[in-house]
Amino acid sequence: MMSSAVEAFKQGRLVVLPTETVYGLSAPIDQPELLKKIFTLKERPFFDPLIVHVHDTEQAKSLVAQWPEIAERLAKAFWPGPLTLVLEKNPTQVSDLITSGLNTVGIRCPKHKVALKFIKEVGVPLAAPSANKFGKTSPTSIEHVQSEFKEQDVYYLDGGPCQVGIESTIVGIKGNTLTVLRSGVISEKELKPLLKDNEKLVYHSSHEVVAPGQVKHHYMPNVPLVFFRTHPTDNLLKEVCKDIGVTQLQSLELPHEAEIAARVLYSNMRDKAKRAKGLYCYIDKSKDQDPQWLGIIDRLNKASQLQITEPDQS
Ligand code: AMP
Ligand code: MG
Repeated sequence: MMSSAVEAFKQGRLVVLPTETVYGLSAPIDQPELLKKIFTLKERPFFDPLIVHVHDTEQAKSLVAQWPEIAERLAKAFWPGPLTLVLEKNPTQVSDLITSGLNTVGIRCPKHKVALKFIKEVGVPLAAPSANKFGKTSPTSIEHVQSEFKEQDVYYLDGGPCQVGIESTIVGIKGNTLTVLRSGVISEKELKPLLKDNEKLVYHSSHEVVAPGQVKHHYMPNVPLVFFRTHPTDNLLKEVCKDIGVTQLQSLELPHEAEIAARVLYSNMRDKAKRAKGLYCYIDKSKDQDPQWLGIIDRLNKASQLQITEPDQS
């Protein structure tokens, strides 16, 4: 299976890469034609940079201008795992096509044995965004990917259902400051204890778009999704249905534990969207205070066409 996947690149085909977060659509970073194919197949704009996947820290070091000690600390603690580090790139190794002309590169070492073995066997880091059409829900099983790229000639590496279920936490490193560019299951709760006294962690302000992963709409299911941050009473639900022009909204229930909720979020969203005219999900506002829910809340904010924050007044 592995050797035919390596062979697939030589035949000009992309390889679907299983990781613990979501499935990726991969190409070696030194093959511009294949990299371009990622953007074409996904219908992804070229201004959206790709994350580069490595099999170990040594390979990561070859991609950057400098490997600061804080990166070493984070990599030791969380790699392989769902954390992407954004660092100044080594321009001889990482092209502008991958980074959309930015002078930084996002790097991750995934915690999935198929992915690690494959990257090692290819011998070159792999650029891989999520294996879905641009702006749509990310795939957490091989079946999701197959349904999205039906008629496309891509090679599928099956790694079973994704255990994390939402995309990696992305952290930019500049001097003594870590900036959370995208929330994920590695939250400030896990990151902060690793920081020294003179280092700080900040959140990227949503007003400033660094890359399109931070734009308003992303991860969207095929039917409208309404995100309730206040209890959805029957009256409120009826009003919202009228407002958005659907007859009924089906509830997207999430497990109480953040880790499990992240794991099932996208697959539940996809399954329900197949049978419903519209979906709604309710997560109480108080969960904003819990770092472990931030990744899930971020995805629902972007996947929903409407957020309801005010209680029913009628
Ligand atoms: P995905 O499509 O899930 O693989 O995520 C890719 C996202 O990673 C992009 O949309 C960006 O938000 C982010 N990203 C990748 N590279 C960089 C970078 N050099 N600087 C900032 N964000 C980046
Ligand atoms: Mg994506």
